[in-house]
Amino acid sequence: MASCKSNRRSFCRKLAAMSLAGIFPAPALSACFSDSSSRHGNKTHTNMSAVASFDNNSDHFEPGYLKLHRTGELRARAEVLWNMMSTCRLCPRECENDRLRGQEGDYCSATDQLQVSSYNPHFGEERPLVGKNGSGTIFFTNCAMLCVFCINWEISQGGVGRNYNTDQLSDMMLQLQRIGCHNINVVTPTHYAPHIMFALDKAAGNGLRLPVAYNTSGWERMEILNLLDGVIDIYLSDFKYFDSEMADKYSPGAETYPEITKKALIEMNRQVGVADPGANDGILQRGLIIRHLIMPNNVGNTSDLVKWISQNLPEDTYVNLMSQYQPMFKAHDYPEISRRLTVAEYRNAVNAARRAGLTNLDVQGI
Ligand code: SF4
Repeated sequence: MASCKSNRRSFCRKLAAMSLAGIFPAPALSACFSDSSSRHGNKTHTNMSAVASFDNNSDHFEPGYLKLHRTGELRARAEVLWNMMSTCRLCPRECENDRLRGQEGDYCSATDQLQVSSYNPHFGEERPLVGKNGSGTIFFTNCAMLCVFCINWEISQGGVGRNYNTDQLSDMMLQLQRIGCHNINVVTPTHYAPHIMFALDKAAGNGLRLPVAYNTSGWERMEILNLLDGVIDIYLSDFKYFDSEMADKYSPGAETYPEITKKALIEMNRQVGVADPGANDGILQRGLIIRHLIMPNNVGNTSDLVKWISQNLPEDTYVNLMSQYQPMFKAHDYPEISRRLTVAEYRNAVNAARRAGLTNLDVQGI
C-alpha cells in the first residue's frame, strides 16, 4: 500500500493547494493523492489523457441502474436519500444533523455540498476491476469511519477535495467511460450516496453503461443498502475488524462495525452474488469482493473473520487478503500497529483463510 512517499509528500501538498486554488484540475491532483489503492491497495494509476479509448466489451451487459432509470425509480430513490440528509442517517453514526441546512456531519464533516478529491483510471484495484484500461475511480472527500491508520487521511479526514455539483459528477462518470475504464468505482461513497444516485440517473440518460462498483468500508445501514438494491452492480467492501473492541479503538466509536458489516455483507451478496468475471475477458461486471487488510498483531482477528465468511457466505466468495498495511496518520500512537506486517503474520492469515475453506482468495506475494 502506498500513498505519497515521504519525499513526495510536500510536493503533493503543494499540488493540493494549487489544485484547490484552481490552478490544476482534479485529475492532476489525483496523480499524487491517488498513488494508492482506492482504499487499501498499493499499485499504480495513470493520468486519463494517457489512456486510449477502449471498447469495454460490454455490448451485452446492462447495468442494474439502467432499468431503474427508465422507470423513474432511480430518481425517486435519489430523492429519498437526499431528504434523509435533513436528519442524516446515511451511515451508522446516525448523527441526525441537518446537512440540507449546511450543518456538517459530526463524523463525516460533510454538508450537502459534494466534494471530490480526484477521479481517474486506477490500476491499483483487483485485477478483475482493472483490466487493460483501469477502474474508473471517483474519490470522495471525507469519511465517517475515522480510522486512525488511514493511508488516505488527507482526503478522508483532512478535507482535501473540491466542490462539485451532481451534474459535474455525472460528467465525470461519462468521461471515465469515454476513455475506456471498465467500471465506475465510487470510493468512500456512503455520505454522498444521494449525490451519486442523482448523478447516475443523469449519466444513465446520457449513455452511461458501465457497471458501478460501490467501494465501501462495509459499515452500511440496511435501510441504505435496500435503496441501493438493483442500482449497484459490484460491491467492493472492506471487512476490517471482527471484534467490536478493536473497531472502537482504531475507528473511534465504531463498535457496531462487526455486527453491522456482517449483516451488510450478507445483503450485498444477496443483491449481486459471487464475483465471477466468467467469459467477459476477466473483467468483472457483477458480484461482491471483500477486502480484508491484515494488520499487525492480529488486530482484525483474521482467523475468526475468515471462518465467519466461509460459514455465512459462499465458499467461493472473492476475498482479497491485503498485505500492504503501513503505519500512517495516527498509527504511531498505538504501538501494536506502529509497524508493517511480517511475512509470518501474512502467511498465518492466508493459511487461516485456506483452512476455513475459502476457495477464491486474492493473495499477494506468497
Ligand atoms: S453520513 Fe455524516 S452526517 Fe450522516 S449520519 Fe453519517 S456522520 Fe452523520
